[in-house]
Amino acid sequence: MVKINENYLLLENSYLFVEVNRRATKYMEENPDKNVIKMGIGDVTKPLVPSVINAFKDAVDEMADVNSFMGYGPEQGYDFLAEAIIKNDFNRWGIDLDLDEVFISDGAKCDAGNIQEIFALDNIIAVTDPVYPVYVDTNVMAGRSGMIKDDGMYENIVYLPCREENNFVPELPSEKVDLIYLCFPNNPTGTTLTKDQLAKFVEYAKENDALILFDAAYEAFITEDNVPHTIYEIEGAKEVAIEFRSFSKTAGFTGTRCAYTVVPKEIKIKDSEDNEQSVNLLWNRRQTTKFNGVSYPVQKAAEAVYTEEGQKEIIENIDYYLENARIIRESLSEIGLNVYGGVNSPYIWVKTPNDMESWDFFDLLLEEANIVGTPGSGFGPSGEGYLRLTAFNTLENTKEAMGRISKLSF
Ligand code: PLP
Repeated sequence: MVKINENYLLLENSYLFVEVNRRATKYMEENPDKNVIKMGIGDVTKPLVPSVINAFKDAVDEMADVNSFMGYGPEQGYDFLAEAIIKNDFNRWGIDLDLDEVFISDGAKCDAGNIQEIFALDNIIAVTDPVYPVYVDTNVMAGRSGMIKDDGMYENIVYLPCREENNFVPELPSEKVDLIYLCFPNNPTGTTLTKDQLAKFVEYAKENDALILFDAAYEAFITEDNVPHTIYEIEGAKEVAIEFRSFSKTAGFTGTRCAYTVVPKEIKIKDSEDNEQSVNLLWNRRQTTKFNGVSYPVQKAAEAVYTEEGQKEIIENIDYYLENARIIRESLSEIGLNVYGGVNSPYIWVKTPNDMESWDFFDLLLEEANIVGTPGSGFGPSGEGYLRLTAFNTLENTKEAMGRISKLSF
């Protein structure tokens, strides 16, 4: 008899987006004349920009010619893309990386999910709460948690609450943890940490022999000067931090798939015999064994993001989403709601009025304004009492949606 990996039975059913869809669909079926605006989904709505599409097409043509056809590429990605990444995403902030510290992949989701494999099962992980669920669920699958408790938190996982009360700045763990997942600009709250606030986590990691897993998937949305674009802007971070990046939200690659992970060679961990092991070599071993690289045309398309024209085009799209975010923030503030995020992020985190529960506010917006958001409680216990709206929509829909909410009284 085949036995199941029992850890999978500890997982909560991923019911958030299923339930959001179920309620929205039911409402639309019962009210076919209503124009429902969806502001819940964390996916881009604008197509790939012309520079990217042209490079993509040219690379596909290369694949059709025997003289330029490309078979298997390096598992870690082609040097042409790693070079463009280092020059544009790191050298510009004064950070040097070697080519073999950049691992190109087909998604920050897979990388953030897979990274835990190279660490022992008895490591204690810490996550901010609310949280992008991948960090928690992949550790539950691996067996690093206990059962989920009545308060919605797993045993053996340390939660660092981020709420209005602490201005969405997580406290340092009060106990010793080994792996700390941080995502800034944050999904779902849309908030950020300043350099000084992030530096405290780097210091904690150094003092406690911990490692930070830093997800910067929303880096492209940063508009404020005191927000770090990469954790390596913090002195000493190369010894204690891995960084995940993605072309998904930066350049509309959610359906095209390209991302990368930086694993500095300075990061060392100990084996059971107290020998130092290189995390870079461990990740390289993992990737070369289990991953066969991102397709050549996709990597050429990603390289085009860094051309002068490509940069102009993607910034135009990001500015479009940020303008939607500004409209959402300002419209909701004007009617007295407390809103967070949306300045360095496409996400706006709305405090529910009158201490309503997240799902009640979701239903109210759906029924009274025909707007679909995402209940904050679906991202973790500290998300209760909040709702996430996204700026990934047309300007027209965003304005229409805000006009409708502005007519409601809370
Ligand atoms: N990290 C965070 C915080 C995200 O919100 C998302 C997508 O929503 C991802 C990673 C996924 O990135 P990718 O599309 O590169 O897998």
